[in-house]
Amino acid sequence: MNTDVTKDRHGQQVELSVVIPVFNEQDALAILFERLYSVMDGLGRSFEVLFVNDGSSDNSADILAQQFEKRTDVTRVISLSSNAGQHAALIAGFEHTRGEFIITLDADLQNPPEEIPAIVAEMDKGFDYVGSIRASRHDKAWRHVASRLMNTLREKITNIRMTDQGCMLRGYSREIALEIADSNESRTFIPALAYLYAARPTEITVAHEERVAGQSKYSLFKLIQLNFDLFTSFSSVPLQLISFTGIFVSIISFLFVCYLAYRRLFYGPEVEGVFTLFGITIFLMGLLLFSVGVLGEYIGRINGLVRKRKRFRVASVLEASEDVESPVGESKSSTTSE
Ligand code: UDP
Ligand code: MG
Repeated sequence: MNTDVTKDRHGQQVELSVVIPVFNEQDALAILFERLYSVMDGLGRSFEVLFVNDGSSDNSADILAQQFEKRTDVTRVISLSSNAGQHAALIAGFEHTRGEFIITLDADLQNPPEEIPAIVAEMDKGFDYVGSIRASRHDKAWRHVASRLMNTLREKITNIRMTDQGCMLRGYSREIALEIADSNESRTFIPALAYLYAARPTEITVAHEERVAGQSKYSLFKLIQLNFDLFTSFSSVPLQLISFTGIFVSIISFLFVCYLAYRRLFYGPEVEGVFTLFGITIFLMGLLLFSVGVLGEYIGRINGLVRKRKRFRVASVLEASEDVESPVGESKSSTTSE
């Protein structure tokens, strides 16, 4: 068996690994294979394409297995036992990669594979992380607005500086990818971690296309969760904001009480303004609930870390060295989380 993890079964150095998370993408895969493999073949570099089937319930697993049969030497398919989420799936992929450079890509062709050579060219220049900026976005309008808002907020409250946080067509050196996989973060945002670890990061502009088939796998709720992951993983500013708001409200309410005491002493008892008082109280209750919620987001993630539950479980691996699907009980599983 191959002992050097960066070599394929013929002992050849693998230069490029393309890691693609796949969750119910049965209608996109055929076009993806066609475009991706022709780009990779044309590069003239040794490569592997590593699909991570993130618990798909459609025909994606069968379609990936067929592709594995067709291009056994350069294709590997890792299947997770259930849907763990895009970023967990990428980490599963990182743990299995052999390449010196790792490129991540979405399966829905929103990231054109034809841009891969541009990423590789940057990595050849010695950058250890290549981020990407979408030239023009092809998503639903509400996603544009939400994304711009989140980008601005992230710039303000974390120390992660990246122009466009949404595009997953990116390049990572092997060291950075393994560092990310080793980080043992419960719920994380991979491009941000890469920025944190990279010594020589760069960004390039890439094309962005419409999803070729199917629907986005992100509901509004999942998107909010992902952004909470980003903020809680990279910033304590929300907690500090709560403290500052608490201090501010305390000062205001102290002044208000002094004012009321003054009126009570000099004007006698009053009952007017009861509804204003209601309004203020309800506002403060809302603020309190919001603060408890923010605290809860942090505590929930600590809870996930403490439980050390596996974030994902690799159920099977299809790869040329063994040519078999490993039984579920023997497969490797990794990174813990909720
Ligand atoms: N994906 C995944 N697991 C999930 C959600 C998404 O592996 O739980 C994959 C999906 O198949 C696609 C990529 O992550 O390859 C990006 O997902 P999607 O296109 O739905 O996100 P969007 O482009 O709408 O942000
Ligand atoms: Mg997409």
